[in-house]
Amino acid sequence: MALTSLSKGRVVALAGGVGGAKLAHGLAQILPPDRLTIIVNTGDDFEHLGLTICPDIDTVLYNLAEVNNPRFGWGRADETFHVLDEARRLGHDAWFLLGDKDIALHLLRRSMLDAGMTLTQVTLELARRLGVRHPVLPMSDHPVRTIIRTPEGELPFQEYFVRRRTEPVMLGMRLAGLAQARPSRQVRAALDAADVVILCPSNPFVSIGPILALPGVRERIATKPALAVSPIIQGQALKGPAAKMMEEQGLEVSALGVARYYAGLIEGFVLDQKDAILAEGVRALGMTPLVTDTIMRDKTQRVRLAQEILRFADGLPGR
Ligand code: GDP
Ligand code: CA
Repeated sequence: MALTSLSKGRVVALAGGVGGAKLAHGLAQILPPDRLTIIVNTGDDFEHLGLTICPDIDTVLYNLAEVNNPRFGWGRADETFHVLDEARRLGHDAWFLLGDKDIALHLLRRSMLDAGMTLTQVTLELARRLGVRHPVLPMSDHPVRTIIRTPEGELPFQEYFVRRRTEPVMLGMRLAGLAQARPSRQVRAALDAADVVILCPSNPFVSIGPILALPGVRERIATKPALAVSPIIQGQALKGPAAKMMEEQGLEVSALGVARYYAGLIEGFVLDQKDAILAEGVRALGMTPLVTDTIMRDKTQRVRLAQEILRFADGLPGR
């Protein structure tokens, strides 16, 4: 039964941006690079000013490299905005913010993609240059783009999320490009080799959902011990629209609602101590609950939570 993920098992973490990046960073302090792979959502990606922007990949990379901006949750620490300021002066409607250091990385990504490298190759190369030793894998090399359906029509994800500040009601979503997309070879290999899969505390719909939607991903996870960490605490998201989306989708806005959303896929569910009362409901779904402090305010708390989750994973029933 015991996987001893702390001592020798292989862990795959599925992540979106901020919530996923924090836990991935904690896990990376404990597990060596050959025992932790992070698979990242690319549904938020888009083309802008000639650049391919991968918000979730970059948030994960910047966090693992410890050069992230802790205040914004995106972009680099010690950042300046000279390029964007000048673009504004030249008439650019700068609704999407990119700092100067961030732009440097995007220029390199652009040139590597133009040279024919896959997004996976580009991401691994950028990780190497940032000093990130753990494999960070885009979920797919095929473009998959999240589109939010709203009363005013369909909005590409970043238009909904950044330009419109998630104000429109979300009626539903679709993943453009999904029919042509497959998880990359590296993603399939990592999932096949995994002893445990961790769904990080990321937005279930727009961060974890697109990864799970790729053909073969759910099936692979279903053969492994898997657990999720709730991004919802006391009925609220710490950041972003997860709670609003759950409400608009008619789901119960709570950690239990998140557990129900993942029912059938995972055996373990980590919920915050403030939601301890929901643990019995989690058990009733056939999952083992772990109740703990899931708020990661600093590096110490990220590592502590990661450690606790790995210990919990060791006790989960195998499949
Ligand atoms: P995004 O792509 O940057 O929006 O990031 P994610 O989808 O990865 O993360 C957004 C979710 O992370 C939100 O629902 C937050 O509630 C959750 N989140 C952020 N920080 C924490 C944390 O410290 N603990 C937990 N449990 N959830 C968090
Ligand atoms: Ca995101």
